[in-house]
Amino acid sequence: MSGIGEFQKLIEDIYLERDAGRGLEGSTLWFIEEVGELVRALRRDERENLEEEFGDVFAWLVSLASISGVDLERVAFEKYGRGCPRCHQTPCSCPVPQARSGG
Ligand SMILES: [Zn+2]
Repeated sequence: MSGIGEFQKLIEDIYLERDAGRGLEGSTLWFIEEVGELVRALRRDERENLEEEFGDVFAWLVSLASISGVDLERVAFEKYGRGCPRCHQTPCSCPVPQARSGG
């Protein structure tokens, strides 16, 4: 088992029928909930829980891509496979953006 594409296929085999039945909106809510759990684990620095939450968030991201008909491996490498999409450097040499303030 290796590679984003293989993982996406695995998650499709396990969950696509159920997740597609739930629909994009319902599955998106699950994804957001898992992101919230990941953020909590990051803040608390709980190693074991942190690893589990990264796995969950990635699985839900992959599932949303599948429901939307997106090949996550292809689009990720198309965008970032040749370095930073803006400056085309690795590592990125873009000027550091200013912190956002307010809304
Ligand atoms: Zn850059």
